[in-house]
Amino acid sequence: MGGQTDADVAIIGSGIIGTISAIDLQAAGYSVVVIEPNEPGAGTAAGSAGYLHDGEIFPVARPGLLAALPGMLLDPRGPLVVRPSYLPRFAGWGMRFLRAMRASTFARATAALASLNRDAVAELAAVANAAGADEFLVRRGGLKIVYDAHTLHELAAELSELEREGIAARALDEAEVHALEPALGANVAGAIFFPNSAHCTDPELFGRRLAERMEMNAHVVRARANAIVPQQDGSWIVKAAARGSTHEIPAKRVLVAAGYDSAALLRPLGYLAPVAAARGYHLMISDPGVALNHAMIFHEPHFAATPMNAGVRLAGTMEFALPDSPPDFRRAQMLFDLARRYIPGLRDGHATQWAGVRPSMPDSLPAMGAADRNRNLFYCFGHGHLGFTQAAVSARAMTQLISGASPFIDLTPFDLARFRS
Ligand SMILES: Cc1cc2nc3c(=O)[nH]c(=O)nc-3n(C[C@H](O)[C@H](O)[C@H](O)COP(=O)(O)OP(=O)(O)OC[C@H]3O[C@@H](n4cnc5c(N)ncnc54)[C@H](O)[C@@H]3O)c2cc1C
Repeated sequence: MGGQTDADVAIIGSGIIGTISAIDLQAAGYSVVVIEPNEPGAGTAAGSAGYLHDGEIFPVARPGLLAALPGMLLDPRGPLVVRPSYLPRFAGWGMRFLRAMRASTFARATAALASLNRDAVAELAAVANAAGADEFLVRRGGLKIVYDAHTLHELAAELSELEREGIAARALDEAEVHALEPALGANVAGAIFFPNSAHCTDPELFGRRLAERMEMNAHVVRARANAIVPQQDGSWIVKAAARGSTHEIPAKRVLVAAGYDSAALLRPLGYLAPVAAARGYHLMISDPGVALNHAMIFHEPHFAATPMNAGVRLAGTMEFALPDSPPDFRRAQMLFDLARRYIPGLRDGHATQWAGVRPSMPDSLPAMGAADRNRNLFYCFGHGHLGFTQAAVSARAMTQLISGASPFIDLTPFDLARFRS
């Protein structure tokens, strides 16, 4: 049994969200204990596309998706699949996902995502600067590329929505896209350029650098939290276990930032958090034979390519699967075939594969707030495909909430109470 001194805040999980939260809370004067069984700072973001994409303000569940959904789900090489073993867990989440396609819900969620994204890259850059990690951020904008001329009208609709939400974006024609990215081939109809987007050239080292900054002041307990126990005085004890040892960690407050596993930690306290394990894959090509200048999302189907120090990283696909089920690395390889459609000179020289879990909410909005039936219990998880982008902005809003100040972003849309009805 390991004994610890009372911290102001115990943070469960040290992925990108927990790590930046710890740095932010320390900067605000709080003592912090972090509970993490794995390498701190090395969660899903380490394998992500590293596209810090303020322009991604549209929830996955959108009006009109219903018609395309059956075809997508039945195509084993499609961008979205549900493994049969995951179906029992998926049913409830899937129903909420269908409900989130309503036009009114979609519009509210778009506005809420925009409120997070507007300052997201600037906030992340400030954290990177404080942690001595700005060498890994390239702030020269990002792209969304369209293959089919028929889809260009969708971009026009997106552009007016982006403008309304205060996200800088402009349309590029085919020639302008090729001027920015000569490696792209003829299969490009146009693009949106996001001048305030950015990318990370080494997400793994970036996370490590942040963790080093965090560990300068935080006490890290290398164990898995298994219970959060309220105390009569409003404080908490977090129970945790590692190989051969157990811990009872007392803290005045708890912040749950354990990604997908947050739901299991909150459930015994009566909080419903419908978070799904949406697995994604990457293919890291160290000898790609081409050079890219920006991070980019391809629209049909949705996947990303990012220039990194170690080569070109292709990342994407959504596979709903039990987190401990074996990855299907054909999906990582599939990314290469998809990318070749856009980047004809791409080679798959010295490629490595990776799979990781996006903690995904049915309405694409993260869960962020204060528990409403317990004092001193906070949560921040479920950022889906945007957790890297939104980590710093989320952490700052949460630090303000925890310190009793008014968060600079309205956190109401992100409250878990939205799932109670
Ligand atoms: C293929 C792919 C590409 C992506 N590309 C991008 C991108 O380009 N841009 C972007 O913004 N986002 C991207 N994302 C999404 C982003 O990576 C995630 O949203 C983000 O990393 C989630 O961070 P997190 O800290 O909430 O969760 P996690 O990374 O899952 O971290 C949670 C941490 O909690 C720990 N933990 C779990 N259970 C417990 C417990 N019981 N006790 C203690 N600790 C626990 C885990 O070990 C882990 O370290 C991508 C994701 C994938 C899969």
